[in-house]
Amino acid sequence: MQKVNIFLVILGLSACRSGSKTDYSAISYSKIERDIMVLSADSMQGRAPFTLGEQRAVSYIEGRMKGIGLEPLFNGSYRQGVPMVSITSHLPTEVPIKTKNETLALRLDDDICLWSPTTKSEVRIDNVPLIFAGFGISTPEYEWNDFKGMDVKGKVIVVLVNDPGYYLRDSSFFKGIAMTYYGRWTYKFEEAERQGALNCIIVHEDGPAGYPWSVAGSKSNSSILYLDSPELENPKCLLNGWITHNAAVKLFERCGFSYDDIKQSALKKDFKSIELKAKLELTVKNTSGRSVSSNIAGYIKGSVLPDEFVVYTAHWDHLGIGRPINGDSIYNGASDNAAAVAWMLAIANAFKKNNPNPERSVIFLSPTAEESGLLGSMYFAKNCPFDVSKGIACINYDVVLFLGRFNDVTLTGYGHSNLDSLLAVVAGKHKRYIDFDPNPENGMFYRSDQLPFLKVGIPAVFAKGYTYQVDLGRDKTRELINRYWKNTYHKPSDEYTADRDKLNGVVDDAVLFYDFGWQLSKSSIYPKWYKKSEFYC
Ligand SMILES: [Zn+2]
Repeated sequence: MQKVNIFLVILGLSACRSGSKTDYSAISYSKIERDIMVLSADSMQGRAPFTLGEQRAVSYIEGRMKGIGLEPLFNGSYRQGVPMVSITSHLPTEVPIKTKNETLALRLDDDICLWSPTTKSEVRIDNVPLIFAGFGISTPEYEWNDFKGMDVKGKVIVVLVNDPGYYLRDSSFFKGIAMTYYGRWTYKFEEAERQGALNCIIVHEDGPAGYPWSVAGSKSNSSILYLDSPELENPKCLLNGWITHNAAVKLFERCGFSYDDIKQSALKKDFKSIELKAKLELTVKNTSGRSVSSNIAGYIKGSVLPDEFVVYTAHWDHLGIGRPINGDSIYNGASDNAAAVAWMLAIANAFKKNNPNPERSVIFLSPTAEESGLLGSMYFAKNCPFDVSKGIACINYDVVLFLGRFNDVTLTGYGHSNLDSLLAVVAGKHKRYIDFDPNPENGMFYRSDQLPFLKVGIPAVFAKGYTYQVDLGRDKTRELINRYWKNTYHKPSDEYTADRDKLNGVVDDAVLFYDFGWQLSKSSIYPKWYKKSEFYC
């Protein structure tokens, strides 16, 4: 763990020198607490899209934005309709893969998980050959192409999770252990579609995936939300999925390969995709239904460069009402993400009180359906009322800890743009320092609402106090955070009960990111991508 390099701090200083308002009293503990209590109350029913919980949460946030004095962003409205379609794929309980001498019957959910990202009512996979396509990556940046010399159009590809850097641990190559976007499952399915594969199956392993099979393998026969689009009627890739490590070992063995050997070969630059001499035969029936949810956003118009903008994001949705745990079925989502909405509203209030005429426009966006795959922010990035090429920065906040104050500001996705060094300067001003994500292999930078902004070329910051609670020290902080991920994250126990000082860290983060966003709203700063970023443009 190291602090940010001092020369980066000096680099950023000149950009931030011009006078900052230091009156942060508009950011109030009591208002943040009230917003959290309202948004995470049982009456909000866990804020799932399309429910009464959505209606209540969206009305509340809309009222708060109006009260603060933000202008509505969407033609006089704070709401942007986000059309979605839910698709349920009905699969047999066993998925047969024919190998040379026998048929390997993979058990749905236990060995393999599949879903069909199309509104087509029936999908037939008719004796389609399987190809092992390494990591399923094609990128000029690292001169890497797993598809060279192999046409995978209309075929089933089996790929490894994460990227070669995870295994080779060379920080100059696919960023070492830190996951690049090429390691993320969403990238692999996107690349499979670009390559024209009919089906893409990722081999799951706990370590490089960053989560257990229970998370990856839970999608079969359940309804999955997508942004509604004509492309869903006829995608090239008609089936996506995961296979367990054990099932993959068996499959490769039946095809005459050792899993470990084949994985080793995929780490070499001269790797070429391998035909597995196995075939998949399967019919999937899909049912679908359409609904519209809402993004909600207000903004302050820039006084000098109104077309350029800084956007804050904090999703309002959570998981709704679900499987009861200890008799509680409401997934309140106080940490995830009522508190971030409260954080964003506090920042909006500070802007209106202290800097009502920022040079650039400042947008405060609360997207829907983050929990369903960043759908609200993806829709916003594709249907933005501003020209996205004028986007200066996205500042996202998600999964908030109620542990009091922190010394650090932990950055996920370090090294994509010089927003890092700019943030280091602002952190220093507030007597805090930049720390690095302790688990960069989990790819957190690609798992929240900043991703759609990165993809359209807007640099982003996803950071918060995380590794050093002021009174607890590093080890104890780590212990409490691990406990949060294990016992509270995405569980009904993610609730808020008032307790003295526990929101001080959220208040500090609001002060810090208000100051940071205000620096970015000045016309003199243009953040720059680093060339090594996979989003460099
Ligand atoms: Zn969240």
